[in-house]
Amino acid sequence: MANETIKRDVVIIGSGPAGLTAAIYTARASLKPLLIDAPADAHKQTTPGGQLMITTDVENYPGFSKGIQGPELMEEFRRQAERFGTEFMETWITEVDLSERPFQLYTESQTISTETLIIASGASAKWLGIPGEAKVPNGFGGNGVSACATCDGPLPAFRNRTLVVVGGGDTAMEEATFLTRYAAKVYVVHRRDKLRASKIMQEKAFRNEKIEFIWNTAVQEILGSQEEGVTAVRLRNLQTGDEQIFPCSGVFVAIGHKPNTDLFKGQLDMDEVGYLKTSGHSTATDVPGVFAAGDVQDSVYRQAITAAGTGCMAAIDAERFLDHLPVAMPSGEEITDEGEHVTADHKAIITPDGHMIPNQEPQVEI
Ligand SMILES: Cc1cc2nc3c(=O)[nH]c(=O)nc-3n(C[C@H](O)[C@H](O)[C@H](O)COP(=O)(O)OP(=O)(O)OC[C@H]3O[C@@H](n4cnc5c(N)ncnc54)[C@H](O)[C@@H]3O)c2cc1C
Repeated sequence: MANETIKRDVVIIGSGPAGLTAAIYTARASLKPLLIDAPADAHKQTTPGGQLMITTDVENYPGFSKGIQGPELMEEFRRQAERFGTEFMETWITEVDLSERPFQLYTESQTISTETLIIASGASAKWLGIPGEAKVPNGFGGNGVSACATCDGPLPAFRNRTLVVVGGGDTAMEEATFLTRYAAKVYVVHRRDKLRASKIMQEKAFRNEKIEFIWNTAVQEILGSQEEGVTAVRLRNLQTGDEQIFPCSGVFVAIGHKPNTDLFKGQLDMDEVGYLKTSGHSTATDVPGVFAAGDVQDSVYRQAITAAGTGCMAAIDAERFLDHLPVAMPSGEEITDEGEHVTADHKAIITPDGHMIPNQEPQVEI
């Protein structure tokens, strides 16, 4: 159990683009942030630096006209955060208590007490767990296997090629439709004989001449070589048991994402999948002083640049909160760290002891 207590004004969980951007901003604001990230663990698929550590070319992060390798980009983020004095700690946060401030975070051997918390723990793509899927050099992850069409679809290795998308939900339809911009043909492999995707997404995919469906089928293995990348998949028909080697140049696994929010269940408001709910006008969660940035609160865009953008927002929100300035909450109200509420219509301020003060200039009578 915890035996050392560390006190901070700002703690950030996660060293992906969101967490490191929040660190750059809060460190420059002299708030001496402590950034905590899970250590590298092959089994849990974690690497300090987040999801971009498992990819190769990043071609869409602004400022790098020739593209940059994912790990190199994250190294630059980290150096920039270090330059302004961010303190790093490599450990798992195993439990949190957000019932009152300062919030308590627990690791295996420490208690961390903090006035504000920026959650940037990201999301993890769900994988199939089949041979050939692991990251290079153990498989073709980053060399023909991806979980992000927006990120990797435009890469030369996938242009005018035959690609396989695995899944039957909205994500799979979206990925398949997007990939037809570049691919010669996209085959959607689905375990069942009908899709889970919304009607509109299904119809869009059915109408697309470049998309074909392979029903009642599972991908058993991804085949290829490190020189050529992916060359085929081994498919198994789940009704007949028949297997076939199906040639293709890329596999996009699109069976969903899981936000890393188990820690916060019952303490923060989240949607049915587990994405943290934030204000929309700020990165505030429903607990004053707790902010969320990046993929952990974004089921729609899930890009490095949007994660970095919300990381910047979370840092500015935390800074405002520590300066006793009001921050917009998911309810539409604004709240200060002293517990003052500005009503959503901005017409009144409610003090911590329940007094209501009009928040309008008195009308001047002429
Ligand atoms: C294969 C792949 C390729 C991609 N390519 C691109 C691309 O080309 N361009 C692009 O814009 N986007 C790309 N993306 C998407 C991009 O990586 C994500 O949108 C971005 O990394 C999200 O950043 P984040 O900071 O929110 O979280 P993440 O990058 O997910 O980082 C979160 C960090 O928090 C840590 N963490 C989680 N829980 C805990 C805990 N309890 N205690 C301590 N630490 C914890 C995790 O270990 C992780 O390091 C790609 C994604 C993948 C998977």
